[in-house]
Amino acid sequence: MAVVDEFLKANEAYASTFHKGDLAMPPARHVAVLTCMDARIDPARALGLEEGDAHVIRNAGGRAADALRSLVISEQLLGTTHIMVIHHTDCGMLTFSNEDLRTKVKQILHANADTIDFLPFSNLEQSVRDDVAFLRNSPLIPQSIDISGFLYDVKSGKLIPVS
Ligand SMILES: [Zn+2]
Repeated sequence: MAVVDEFLKANEAYASTFHKGDLAMPPARHVAVLTCMDARIDPARALGLEEGDAHVIRNAGGRAADALRSLVISEQLLGTTHIMVIHHTDCGMLTFSNEDLRTKVKQILHANADTIDFLPFSNLEQSVRDDVAFLRNSPLIPQSIDISGFLYDVKSGKLIPVS
């Protein structure tokens, strides 16, 4: 695959000047960032993160229910004390319903996805509030963990506080 070859070439260049091989495993800035897998978001550049700084957990939509496993590991085993939930404008999760995708899976893959909640949403700001509330109310997330919610604007690159 041509693109994999391109990546391998880029990695050679990266590794040729790499000098951060002695970083500690726990994130130095004690933060777990939860955001969407959208290709337009580069959390490292958008937030000024360097290797070793933070956990970045990504999934479709940056949904909390889908990230709980990783967040518990991040907090309990690797000492993070802050969670930043970052959803974004023009998110693909606004464009389909569970029923849409389940039907598509049935038609194209002849498989059953009826028990999967793909966690789409219809209101962007509400989705951030919902995920912050989900984490706040989870018995797996201690009250001492600081949780904040933001929208990332894919047009301007700016973060907008939501909750
Ligand atoms: Zn998205």
